[in-house]
Amino acid sequence: RMQRLRERLARSGALGQTLLSILSRGDLTESDWEEIEETLLLADVGMGPTTELMETLRTRTKVLGTTDPAAVREVLRSELLALVGPELDRTLHLDPAVGDDGLAHPATVLVVGVNGTGKTTTVGKLARLLVAEDRTVVLGAADTFRAAAADQLSTWGERVGVPVVRSEREGADPAAVAFDAVRTGRESAADVVVVDTAGRLQNKAGLMDELGKIKRVMSREAPVREVLLVLDATTGQNGMRQAQVFAEVVDVTGIVLTKLDGTAKGGIVVAVQRELGVPVKLVGLGEGPDDLAPFVPEDFVDALLS
Ligand code: GDP
Repeated sequence: RMQRLRERLARSGALGQTLLSILSRGDLTESDWEEIEETLLLADVGMGPTTELMETLRTRTKVLGTTDPAAVREVLRSELLALVGPELDRTLHLDPAVGDDGLAHPATVLVVGVNGTGKTTTVGKLARLLVAEDRTVVLGAADTFRAAAADQLSTWGERVGVPVVRSEREGADPAAVAFDAVRTGRESAADVVVVDTAGRLQNKAGLMDELGKIKRVMSREAPVREVLLVLDATTGQNGMRQAQVFAEVVDVTGIVLTKLDGTAKGGIVVAVQRELGVPVKLVGLGEGPDDLAPFVPEDFVDALLS
């Protein structure tokens, strides 16, 4: 997995390599430091974290008093790692719950985010990951606004071999489909039910109503363990602002950062966690069924620096 992440990131031109090469120049001038700052900002690390990192790098490289690449690399590695937050809890909490009826209920996962960020693809890939862990899965196509969305999810269901609950009627109540999916999961004693939603960025109140209702209705059958917000890593600050709206209307428990294979802007990991106060739990590294991986800070930083 790490090898794959490394290859993907290397192909897109890594942030860490650029920093490493500047820091190894020795006796850094003000223009070198400006270059470091620009590199961080261009990689979407964000203003606050960039300022912080600049300060610690200045101090630590001064104390270090050497330009030995290995030593500089070690400083950079530990500072980047601290920034990425190795202490954050990134586990997917998918324990089944025991209902009032004394029976085990599936863990449910709600997947939200703007259209085009890779939501449906992520749901398909997540099903694959869970199946590989020997869990039984049911998917729910609660994006009922576009018939194509349910078709796309059905295709994923066939591909990874899991049932998909959907409505044949375009414009059906998304909460009703979500409820059916969780009920089907419960009746078939599935371990996990993952529900895909529409990402229409209408007004905030509308979105809040819609996602709130879906979550409430799902909770009647089984507790919603995870609300995953999907964010496209290539969309920068604009994507962040849109993600923020979702985070304000529903309690997000984790971020899935997609299309990390197509960008050198890995710094968005830092920015999004800071701004939304939620850890990145999974990363999308391509369009295929196996291109979703748990986010491991150490692997990520090593990939940036390799
Ligand atoms: P949705 O509208 O949010 O459900 O987005 P889709 O799941 O339909 O994905 C939009 C496009 O992004 C599709 O062409 C996907 O194949 C592509 N995509 C999704 N995730 C990734 C990823 O991690 N890497 C790359 N390169 N493409 C992705």
